[in-house]
Amino acid sequence: MGDVERDVDRELRKRLREPRIRDDDLFETVEEVFDRATVLALLELKQRGCLSKLSGVVSAGKEARVYLAKGKSGEYVAVKIYLTATAEFKKGIWKYIKGDPRYEWVLSLPTHKLMTIWARKEFSNLKRMYEASVSVPKPICVYRNILVMEFIGENGVRAPLLKEAAEAGLLDSDFAAQIFTEIVRNVYRMYWYAGLVHGDLSEYNVMLHGDRVYIIDVSQAVKLEHPNSHMFLYRDISNIVKFFRDELKLRTPPIDKIYYSILNKDEAQLQSPIEEHEE
Ligand code: ATP
Ligand code: MN
Repeated sequence: MGDVERDVDRELRKRLREPRIRDDDLFETVEEVFDRATVLALLELKQRGCLSKLSGVVSAGKEARVYLAKGKSGEYVAVKIYLTATAEFKKGIWKYIKGDPRYEWVLSLPTHKLMTIWARKEFSNLKRMYEASVSVPKPICVYRNILVMEFIGENGVRAPLLKEAAEAGLLDSDFAAQIFTEIVRNVYRMYWYAGLVHGDLSEYNVMLHGDRVYIIDVSQAVKLEHPNSHMFLYRDISNIVKFFRDELKLRTPPIDKIYYSILNKDEAQLQSPIEEHEE
């Protein structure tokens, strides 16, 4: 434990003895029941200037919840809080951790520690991707089980997922082709410049803000050295191709062609894969 962490720890333990840890200003309209440790962690993030006001739930998943909050200078931020690790979750993440030398040891930890590691893993993956110019929400802060990042949306309303945009009929074929190319190019950048493979890429983990694509939910991303990284890459590409081909009736290049263009660092092949595709 470093000096800073030790100080924070001491401070938290001091506060745990205080009867009142509720900060009405921080929780304005959110009627959530957080455990004590999460409340303290949110207070710490507030003190660090990472967020000011938690003002609504964006998404309530099984393991993680995403909240809308105000950042330091009044801009919106997204706050992802990892709450529980179900047995299913532990089983699910094992395949991403196994073989990744950075994280092999974590599964033996108690749940709250696992959630902390997982939040940190998502933060560091986001950071690597962001620095490699992959289109992801900008990572802002991470502390314990809480990750603060750029909010993708407008006026506190989140942008639609690719899946939702398609269902709402927002993707005509030209736009779909453009979006498809953009996603593939982000997968390429992720591979070559961040050294990572997403591992859970699908129409549910891509947001569409205006005409810009954002890749989200990167906690499970693996380094290229991971023994299954190329299997994950192939699956990521398949998911995206199948979605555009089957749901949006786009004539995409074959999965293998995209896969090998990425592996061979053949970026030119990915510039406009739609036009170059022959039946
Ligand atoms: P779930 O169990 O709900 O699938 P998850 O672990 O998949 O959660 P994410 O996919 O990262 O978590 O986020 C869940 C949802 O929260 C997303 O589908 C999206 O609607 C919203 N969301 C995530 N990150 C952001 C962000 N940076 N800005 C706006 N909304 C976001
Ligand atoms: Mn998701």
